[in-house]
Amino acid sequence: MKGIFPTERFKGMETPFYYYDTQILRTTLDSINREAGKHEGYCVHYAVKANANPKVLNIICQAGLGADCVSGGEIEAAVKAGFPANKIVYAGVGKSDWEINLGLEKDIFCFNVESIPELEVINQLAAAKGKIARVAFRINPDVGAHTHANITTGLAENKFGIAMGDMESSIEKAASMKNVKFVGLHFHIGSQILDMGDFRTLCNRINDLQIQLERHHIKVENINVGGGLGIDYQHPNRVPVPDFKAYFDTYARHLKLRPGQTLHFELGRAVVAQMGTLITRTLYVKKGAVKQFAIVDAGMTDLIRPALYQAYHKIENISSDEPKETYDVVGPICESSDVFVKAMDLNAIHRGDLLAIRSAGAYGEIMASQYNCRKLPKGYITEEL
Ligand SMILES: *Cc1c(COP(=O)(O)O)cnc(C)c1O
Repeated sequence: MKGIFPTERFKGMETPFYYYDTQILRTTLDSINREAGKHEGYCVHYAVKANANPKVLNIICQAGLGADCVSGGEIEAAVKAGFPANKIVYAGVGKSDWEINLGLEKDIFCFNVESIPELEVINQLAAAKGKIARVAFRINPDVGAHTHANITTGLAENKFGIAMGDMESSIEKAASMKNVKFVGLHFHIGSQILDMGDFRTLCNRINDLQIQLERHHIKVENINVGGGLGIDYQHPNRVPVPDFKAYFDTYARHLKLRPGQTLHFELGRAVVAQMGTLITRTLYVKKGAVKQFAIVDAGMTDLIRPALYQAYHKIENISSDEPKETYDVVGPICESSDVFVKAMDLNAIHRGDLLAIRSAGAYGEIMASQYNCRKLPKGYITEEL
């Protein structure tokens, strides 16, 4: 039953730590390349913010994906891992001067610009270096996604992107500047999206915008539809690889690309979530008046998603085959929200048992903090154990 984990090897290790199953990662990357490869001009970038562990980045880079960065630090991490600069795109509402300069020096593929003041700064900094920056405009398509309110990004009320009504004047503005070149449109509507209808709605919106731009004889070299494909947090064993076929086919069916246009994707969670597990040791089992708690050595400092988004992560006791009992699994941090799950049935837990908190490869290790003066968790790939 303990199938996929080298539990014996885990026993002597300091906990908590992240375990990255590279077989799952490679299978996932193969599926992405196979399904995207069926369509002409599709380019997949990995959203580095989901997991920037250097060993993980390295494997993704070797599979041939590009990188989607949202900070200068991520550009540095991507370059260090070996991603070629001409496959790096850079988005973010608040790019600082040093970050823009870094992108210019590395000669990245494209800046995804989110405001006119930002466009002006990029033009100035590029002029100072005698360069021409390729820019795409991130358009806010006012498309809602059926996901958690904190992770929708494409609604008019969100802080991201340029309003659709300002799209043409922005492009005209860029055309009047000497040190930027307008190359594309960028969108990203949110995260953990499982309803293909949301992506279809985005396609329809982009089709309308393309028609509008053609009326003004504006040429668009590339379209970037962002990321957002969700994963099955309930069934990491049954569905370890997301349905990339359905995802890319949705775009192929509904998005009308013009001849020569390339279509770019920025997938984060779907690439890395299922390969990652947070391994934690049980410190105490405490029986309260109405429930029992398994108190573990990992906390919201190691994996913040349950506390931040009420996210569900499947948990398994990988040290026990005993009959199931019901537990709240909680961390040691001095916050009431430091709870991984409530009322979950798990094989009877004893002090010292190792628990596997599943589907934690995305937005896990990278969001760890040192609150309570704790150590940051380490991350290990299969080959290191
Ligand atoms: C976060 C983000 C992504 C990746 O989102 P996932 O849901 O992890 O696929 C892609 N593009 C941009 C601009 C982002 O901010």
